Amino acid sequence: MYGKNAWLKYGSDTKVIMDFAEGYKDFITTAKTERLAVREAVKILDAKGFKNADSVKSVKEGDKVYFINKNKNICAFVVGKKPLEDGLRILGAHIDSPRLDFKEHPLYENKGFAYADTHYYGGVKKYQWVTIPLALHGVICKKDGTKVEVNIGEDPKDPVVGISDLLIHLSADQMALPLAKAITGENLDVTLGSIPVDDKEKEAVKANVLKLLKEKYDVEEEDFISAEIEVVPAGPARDYGLDRSMVAGYGHDDRCCAYTSLMALADMDKAEYTACCILVDKEEIGSVGATGAQSLFFENTIAKLGGLMGVGHPVWLARMAMENSKMLSSDVAAGYDPLYASVGDPKNVAYLGNGLNFNKYTGSRGKSGSNDANPEYYAFVRRTLDEANINWQSSELGKVDQGGGGTIAYILGNYNMNVIDAGIAVLNMHAPMEIISKVDLYEAYLGYKAFLVSKD
Ligand code: MN
Ligand code: MN
Repeated sequence: MYGKNAWLKYGSDTKVIMDFAEGYKDFITTAKTERLAVREAVKILDAKGFKNADSVKSVKEGDKVYFINKNKNICAFVVGKKPLEDGLRILGAHIDSPRLDFKEHPLYENKGFAYADTHYYGGVKKYQWVTIPLALHGVICKKDGTKVEVNIGEDPKDPVVGISDLLIHLSADQMALPLAKAITGENLDVTLGSIPVDDKEKEAVKANVLKLLKEKYDVEEEDFISAEIEVVPAGPARDYGLDRSMVAGYGHDDRCCAYTSLMALADMDKAEYTACCILVDKEEIGSVGATGAQSLFFENTIAKLGGLMGVGHPVWLARMAMENSKMLSSDVAAGYDPLYASVGDPKNVAYLGNGLNFNKYTGSRGKSGSNDANPEYYAFVRRTLDEANINWQSSELGKVDQGGGGTIAYILGNYNMNVIDAGIAVLNMHAPMEIISKVDLYEAYLGYKAFLVSKD
């Protein structure tokens, strides 16, 4: 089923695709940050009989467990029949998405408006983030150890916030600038309010915003120093297109692959090789830090799993297990956009509707920084998909020297495991409203499922 439109396989019988997309729309509507994605993942896993590893003393074949890392990274397993050192079948996706983060000292007032100053996270085209309704999500951690959760702008009764742009009437100078310069990162400041408190002369509007925050969350201005407030597009994911064939939403990159990978694992009955789904943070800024793919968390977790299985040398065994593993790096691909056809090589692009997409390599300037999957392994993956009747395709990220990008594939490749990028084609990648095809979402889910139970 290589390179064929997957809708044709289903004909008029698309209910299963549409139903699956409903669950996904609920997921990304709620899971707008990595923390919220972990929370939703736990709900899905708990409902399918998985247990938090903190609550178990040992595990054996058939058991289903998950490990949570600092509320922003999660790793779930279905323990297989074969010994752990024979390797795992791993699906890895990221749950962070481009957005705007509050600075440590975000709040200020200027000429009657209270603002929050932000620093963008990940690759954003800044002009896309002005004049759209935005929501605030995150946590404020207070000195006394308590943590307050912020969620403003999703409930239809909530206010939204946003970033202003210049009226067209006075934009002669701005309109002459290149897109990269017309809106600056330092000007991505979120409007928070405009009513002054009457008993203050200086920064009276900001004082009023702080008063509201104090009433709602019992926080002081200084508490924003130890906070993680993410500014994201407000509102739910929606059907896109008159035929409802696509989903418009924020954060498809990479929560569409995270959801399908997680569901593929959650829906497993039993595993031959121990099956794993890891959802990581920080991919959009280089997979760094404690909750990113470069963290020792994953390796430590496999050692901990070995410990719970009662093996002799779990750390050594974890290394063997990783080296013998097979992995799909579940991350999105650049969908072919006929309106911007010139950036791709037409023989090597990913089409919306043609199913699960593989990138043998990513990178830029001569594949630099890329995991370049071994053809021996790619042949195994092709066979697995074809035997399961999955629609799939292969592409690369734009034509040579057009740009480029990366995924977490090379990081797991460092453990000497076989890895290839496999994900869903996205239009408008990194925009506040990204687009995917529902049939690609479903084929990805089926493809990931087939991979998890694949034989050698
Ligand atoms: Mn991605
Ligand atoms: Mn990305």
